[in-house]
This record gives sequence, structure tokens and C-alpha cells, in this order.
Amino acid sequence: MSLITPVHVTSKLPDVGTTIFSVIGQLSAQHRAINLSQGAPNFPCDPQLVASVAEAMQQGHNQYAPMTGLPALKQALADKVQQLYGRRYDVDSEVLISGSASQGLYMAIAALVHQGDEVIFFEPSFDSYAPIVRLHGGVPVGLKLEQPDFAINWDQVQAAITPRTRMIIINTPHNPSGQILSQADLDQLARLTRSTNIVVLSDEVYEHIVFDGHTHCGMAGHEELAQRSVIVSSFGKTFHVTGWRVGYCLAPAELMSELVKVHQFMMFSADTPMQVGFAQYLQNPQHYLGLSAFYQQKRDRLREMLQNSPFKLLPSAGAFFLLASYAHFSDESDSDMVKRLIVDHGVATIPLSAFYTDGTDNKLIRLSFAKDDATLQAGAEALCKVTG
Ligand code: GLN
Repeated sequence: MSLITPVHVTSKLPDVGTTIFSVIGQLSAQHRAINLSQGAPNFPCDPQLVASVAEAMQQGHNQYAPMTGLPALKQALADKVQQLYGRRYDVDSEVLISGSASQGLYMAIAALVHQGDEVIFFEPSFDSYAPIVRLHGGVPVGLKLEQPDFAINWDQVQAAITPRTRMIIINTPHNPSGQILSQADLDQLARLTRSTNIVVLSDEVYEHIVFDGHTHCGMAGHEELAQRSVIVSSFGKTFHVTGWRVGYCLAPAELMSELVKVHQFMMFSADTPMQVGFAQYLQNPQHYLGLSAFYQQKRDRLREMLQNSPFKLLPSAGAFFLLASYAHFSDESDSDMVKRLIVDHGVATIPLSAFYTDGTDNKLIRLSFAKDDATLQAGAEALCKVTG
């Protein structure tokens, strides 16, 4: 008999389970399903990028990078942002290379949200926002995007702002709906936050995936909002290397200095060889400017192949997600539908309820089209065979 008393742990997130992306990923693998669930490419990245990183390792770039990132990479980013959005971020004090966009989001919230601060965010939302806010003593205030186009209701935002509101989390292009914000949306946000101390935390990891000739309206391109925004972005989504875990943050120096205080103790610096590789790869703008056309083709292909499926497809204006509704032919819950699709039809998707803190079920599933053409075709064929 053991004399040691087991440790009793009081969970800080008692209601949080394993993230949906891991749960569905496992179930999908178990049933050898065609995986349209996690937003991660199943096709290779450019061999040239791999060669640059391998070369960097061989040349000995294997120790800590400077804490806030490799100067050459920060410079390349500052140049790209200026070119695309017109704002110059100072390389030394306003650009930070993070270990993934997820880490960027985490440190921004950790650095800026105090006990009792309210953080407005929009649901459906990426599943990490609200738990991170709660871990830091903040109060997540989830506002629902309006169906069918998942637009932000700015009157609702105005009504939700209180003297305790410290942050508004924006995500454009939006995961999971694929919708994008317009310049008019940004003007509304600017109006509502004017003369407040509200920080905008802007998750723009899909900034280079915007369809139908639209341009990305991010905080860097908005003179007023840029001054109160922390922008979080990613190399993984842009260069098909989600497993490399390198992202970046942009913010005015005063905000950035707070993020850096957290970053230095959270991970000190991001992976060095990847930073060397990205710094070289960014020199050619075609490496990111062609991404919208690349994914638009995949979106259109998937839509076309699903024409004869029983699902109704919602519009997708950006990112690599398509929402499909089944409300007209089944009233099963979205998690049951997703399980049935995996087990009976061999195709994995994500139930939209996973993106709501209250589990709202709108009978929608999310398909990712960051997949090679054979996978998209096989997935679409499987979905076409679904019946009510
Ligand atoms: N962003 C990806 C998605 O929504 C998943 C990222 C993750 O698994 N943490 O599918």
C-alpha cells in the first residue's frame, strides 16, 4: 500500500477538454477517414524552403536566435508589411518573431489582460481565445456573429463595451466561417474604441488567403487602429509549414515592450534555422502573393464537386474553410453528424459547435480545403453519398 497521498489538483480550466482538432484528428486516423478537418495542408511545402532551412542547420545556425527574432527576418517582415499595408513598423521595437501564432495570441493576452478585465471576442471563434483569457483572470465576453454571413453587429459591440473592456479580439479572414472584414467594419471598430484604452488583438494568420479580388483589410492598413493593435500572424499558413511553429507579432512599441516581457520567459526565442529560411524566402513576394489564387482554385473545385451533395454550402471569402449546412435534411447534433461522417462515410470534418463556448449547434460543419486535389475529390465523393 502506498503511503504517498496523491496530489490534488484544482483545475484552472475544469470545463475544458482536449481541443477539437486533436479529438477529430485521432478519430479520423482511427477510421482511416479522408481528413478535411484540421486546417493544415496535406501537401508538401516548397522544397526550396526546406533546402534553405537544412542549409541553415548545416551552416551552424542551431543556437538561440536573438530574443525578439533574427534581424534579417524582422527586416523582411517590416518591408513586406510596409509594401502591402503602408505602415512602417520599427524593426527593433515593433516586430517580434514568436513560436507560432498561437503563442503570439497567448503572450498578448498574458501581457495585457489584468484580473477582471473584459475581453470581447466573436463566436464562432478559434477555440483558444476564451480559455487563455480565463487563465489570466480575464472575463471573456463572447458576441455571436450574425448568420448567414457571420457579420459583426457593431451596435451589439457598442452595447457590450464597458469601462472594464480591455481588449477586443478580431480574426480576419475568419476561422471557421471564411468571412472577411471590410474597411467599413474597421472604421466602426475605430469609432467604438476611440478615446478608450481598449487594445485590439488581431489574429490575421490567413492574411494572404483572400478571394474574389478582395484585399485583406488588416489593422496595419488602418492608421488609427494600428496604434492600438497587436497583430498576430503566421508563416505556417502562408508557406504550408504549420508544423514549424513560427509566427510573428506587430505592435506599437509601447504595447510590444509588454509582449516581449512575456515572450522572453515563455520561450526566449523562436527556432533559429526556420527564421533563417523564412528571411530568405520572403525576399520573393510571389511566395505569398500567389496564395489567394492557389486556394481560391481549391475552394472552387471543392464547391463544384459538392454540388450534388445534400449539403448547402455557405460562401467563403478567405482562409481555407468552407461551411456546410445540413439543417434541411437532418436534425442530429453537429457532433453526431461529424461522428457519423467519419464512421459511416470515411470523411472527417469539424462540428461548428466546437467554436462556441456555449456549444451553439447551428447544424453546420467545417471543411478544410487545404488539401491536395485527390483528397478533396475523395472527400467530396464521400460527402455526396450522405443521406438524411
Ligand atoms: N488553425 C487550425 C484549424 O482551425 C488548427 C490549429 C490547431 O490545431 N491548433 O483547423
